[in-house]
Order: sequence, then structure tokens, then C-alpha cells
Amino acid sequence: MFSKNQNHELAVDYVYLPAGSTHKTLVLVNSGIHGIEGFVGSAVQRQWLLHLKESPLPPEMGVLMIHGLNPFGFINQRRVNENNVDLNRNFAIKPSLFSKQNLEYKKIERFLNPKRPVKLNFISEVSFLFEAARYIFQYSLGTMRQGVLQGQYSSPEGLYFGGDRAQNQRALVDLLLQEWAATYERIFVIDIHTGYGQRGKLHYLAASSADPESIVLKKIFGENSVDFGQQKDFYLVEGDFVAYCLNRLRNDFRRSAQGLAFEFGTLDSQKTLGSIESLRRMVLENQVWNYRSDTQQDDVKVRGLFREMFYPSDPEWRSAALRQAQQGWDQVIRYYSSIQ
Ligand SMILES: [Zn+2]
Repeated sequence: MFSKNQNHELAVDYVYLPAGSTHKTLVLVNSGIHGIEGFVGSAVQRQWLLHLKESPLPPEMGVLMIHGLNPFGFINQRRVNENNVDLNRNFAIKPSLFSKQNLEYKKIERFLNPKRPVKLNFISEVSFLFEAARYIFQYSLGTMRQGVLQGQYSSPEGLYFGGDRAQNQRALVDLLLQEWAATYERIFVIDIHTGYGQRGKLHYLAASSADPESIVLKKIFGENSVDFGQQKDFYLVEGDFVAYCLNRLRNDFRRSAQGLAFEFGTLDSQKTLGSIESLRRMVLENQVWNYRSDTQQDDVKVRGLFREMFYPSDPEWRSAALRQAQQGWDQVIRYYSSIQ
């Protein structure tokens, strides 16, 4: 089944390849929840689909791929949607998430969301670095990373805004879960991201090792290959796509469900300098979007820096990403084939 965007309006495509016989296992893959990350996500999905031609799935397995869940962000090369919402902070399991206070974020909000046009020069670069260093010294890198990245629900123009209500995408995801995913005994969810972590490395990023079912992830990818959100250098989020799907499938449909994010690192954000540079590019892009920049060149430069952070142009980076993506896919398929 295929839904195609004929009118070049903003739309989400998906492809469903049902199991040939009993509906045992479904692999559900999502890309582009963070708009601009959809370029890599789309390439990975394409490769996996082409791979199925040479190496078909066992008859009890099906695949559902959602392509470019955030079309506005995709076409405008932003992470957020048309309401400045970070969709991966918006898939609330409980509506109380939307009134959640993020006090750490509030402390550095002025720094994260400057309300003036961008001016790119040596001084502005150094002063960003100094100010970031001052906050890291005051609050520690871990606190700052968690405070910024976990999302916030109070500043609609700001970075990592999780929204004040569910966005349209949720209705689509609910429909797909109910119509197709829930017809399988077990579902494995993969959400493809770029940007966070060691450059050139695919991180298997799961919510929490405290989840009793995390043992399955270790069986699939290897004991030490999964990064859990509560570990040093990582962060926990709420309102993310994977947790939402797992919760619905397990609790509303009583299915066995596992899943995680495939996160392709680009800027060594696990290191202090990489983390500051990642944050600088996030701040600049949002600032340019809201307040423009002093010159056209700065505008182009900021957009280029942002694109490189989520869609690196380096051919070696790209081939390494696709190579690791294939290994990850093979591991998932091998595991579920073995327990059919
Ligand atoms: Zn992402």
C-alpha cells in the first residue's frame, strides 16, 4: 500500500509491506520526525527497502515505513514543524507533559533564545563559547545538556519546544498503529535520527536500561552496544516517538513491543566542545528563523552550518552511516527470524 504526494503539498508518505503469512513480527521504521534529519533517514529507508529485494523477509514478518513525519521541517530544513514544535518531545503519553516546567531551561533561556538578528563574527563566536563555558562551570555539562535537550513547554519560539498540544502527526501514527501494527504479535520500532553523539558512529539510543524489556535490545545489538538515556553523555527525553508507540502497543493493544532510536553522530556532541558547537548551531538557526541576520551571507552560512550538523556532505560520513545502518537492520532481522 502506498500513499503518494501528487500535489507537492506537505504530506507524509508511508509504505506497508505486510507479512506473507501469519502476522508475527512487524518492523516499524520512522524517519524525519526532526525534518532536516529526514535526508539521512530517507536514504537509510531506501537502502533497507532495496535490500529486501535481494534478501526477502521471512513470511511471518512485515515492514511499515513512515517517511518524513515532519514534512514542513523537511522542506524548510528545520528540526521543528510549522508550529516550532520539536515533535520528538510532543508524543505525550499523558497530557500533563504539556504543562511540565523545565526549571533548568528557564535559567539559561536568555542565552538559548537571543531576541535579535544574527551577527556572525569572531567576537560573537568567542562570546558564545565563553557564556556556554560559564553555564557549564555553574551547572555542569550534564545538567545543562539534560536541561536543554529534555524539551520545554513554556517558550513557543524557543529551542526544544515540545508544544502545548498534540500535533497532527499523532493522529496519523495512531491510525497506523491501530490499522496495521497492532495486527502483529510483536513490533520493533526504529526511529531514525542524526546529530547527536560521536561523529560517524551509529548510536543505538534507548530510553532506559530500567525497562525490564531492555534485555531484548542487548540481545539484538550486543551487551555494550546500546546507549541508555540515563547514562553519562546521554539524556532522557519525554514525549518521544518510540516511547509513545511502545506504550500504546503494550498497554492499549497488549502486544510485545521493543524499539529505539538509530542516532547517527555528526559533531562529537559527547565532548564538551562538540556539545557547545551543536548548541551554537541550534541557537543560530532558530535566531535566523525568527530575527533574520545582518547580512545575506550570514543567513546562508547559518543554514549551511545547520545542514552539516544533520546532513553531513562528507561522502565518507554518508557511506559509513549507510554501512552501519545495514548492520543494524541485519541484526534486527536476524534476531526476529530466530525467534519466529
Ligand atoms: Zn532527531
